Amino acid sequence: MAKEMKNERMEAIVSLAKRRGFIYQGSEVYGGLSGTWDYGPLGVTLKRKIMQLWWQHFVESRDDMYGVDAAILMNQKVWQASGHVDTFVDPLCEDTVNHRRFRTDHILKDNGVDPDGMTMEQMDAMIAEKGIKSPDGNPLSESRTFNMMFKTHVGATFDEKSVSYLRPETAQGIFTNFKNVVDNFYPDLPFGLAQQGKAFRNEISPRDFIFRSREFEQMEIEYFVHPDKWEEAFDELLAETHTFLESLGLSKEAIHELDVPEQDRAHYSKKTIDIEYDYPIGKEELMGIAYRTDFDLGNIQRVSGRSMEYTIKGTNEKFIPHVIEPSFGVERALMAVLSSAYREDEVNGEKRIYLALPEHLAPVRFAVSPLLKNKPELVEKAREVYTLLKKKYGNVMWDDNGNIGKRYRRQDEIGTPHCVVIDFDSLEDNSVTIRDRDTTEQRRVSISEL
Ligand code: ATP
Repeated sequence: MAKEMKNERMEAIVSLAKRRGFIYQGSEVYGGLSGTWDYGPLGVTLKRKIMQLWWQHFVESRDDMYGVDAAILMNQKVWQASGHVDTFVDPLCEDTVNHRRFRTDHILKDNGVDPDGMTMEQMDAMIAEKGIKSPDGNPLSESRTFNMMFKTHVGATFDEKSVSYLRPETAQGIFTNFKNVVDNFYPDLPFGLAQQGKAFRNEISPRDFIFRSREFEQMEIEYFVHPDKWEEAFDELLAETHTFLESLGLSKEAIHELDVPEQDRAHYSKKTIDIEYDYPIGKEELMGIAYRTDFDLGNIQRVSGRSMEYTIKGTNEKFIPHVIEPSFGVERALMAVLSSAYREDEVNGEKRIYLALPEHLAPVRFAVSPLLKNKPELVEKAREVYTLLKKKYGNVMWDDNGNIGKRYRRQDEIGTPHCVVIDFDSLEDNSVTIRDRDTTEQRRVSISEL
């Protein structure tokens, strides 16, 4: 948390997220559990809307995508074959006095050294050369590797055979179902399998609010292609990624492509583009899109002994498909949405905070209020309008707490695009006041126009 708390804008967003019921620290009542976050009523709605939009964009609106929802717990062979047991590790160094542990690459970054492409030994040498100390001012130990998977046991026996892991990515649940979908649906190449769901990583230093969590959600696609045709599929999915990010309301100027250099890519990846976003904490990875060759299906075939080959219909051409993987983190998308929507301005000489969320993402689309909550005739009319809008739009909130000014302030912070107020004139002429969140302008419209 230390880094983000030095950043005023980030601090304001974290505070709003808590105050308005978007995101709370996990297990807060017991002092919290680092790297875990709970979603409140508005946060869960916003998160689901982002996930639904992705599903609609990448799965439902296409005829070359198939959805799956695999179990989080998987046979340990999955993680042996994928390389996660041996190589899903981070370099870790230790404060030699208080024994707190830190990611060596993060220590270097925080001290103005770019660790990308460095081996663990090179990072240690750099720490020694520059005399870099731990954040607590003590000498640091040499680095060791640390596996980021949460290990557990399945069943009542606690031996090597019962070991399993909470999945650190959703991708392997897709690869392990490749053959099932091919056998059931006979899809033509190229086609993709998509999955959304939880992933778990025992991050050494979770930080920057939900940006680096230990439990988070991913939205991943494995798009299977003929080995000769990976480039066009890569370009198409990259273009679709930009369209999707635009539909989240993120401005083009804040989105950057990083063509990851060979030494920083996973060894099996022939091309990776990270999409970075200008978060209040700086330019950081929002998602990545990687050409993973036939690495994953090849490993499954080798370890399971089952063929992962695909035969082109009506021919004898048989091969293991290659794959393009767009991998999104929901929390990183959500943090980008909140950061991009967060605004401060001045209304009638007073500071105002509002979330300029796109209307299709706003957790509450309309808030409906009676001007005065102690006038039964106003309340009754307002209830009528509320029921009407609720039926039509679903995400409509009844709000009669405090005076109108307070209600506007609250709805602005929630990001509600429209506030509808029922007053005495409404009883006469069936019209209401509708106030726009971004301009604060108020208009008179008839109820039927809503
Ligand atoms: P980083 O370099 O930031 O640790 P990564 O390159 O390890 O990320 P991937 O393994 O490519 O990330 O995971 C795919 C996506 O999952 C990332 O682009 C990000 O959106 C999301 N993600 C990964 N780790 C976390 C985390 N600890 N908390 C939240 N989201 C994460």
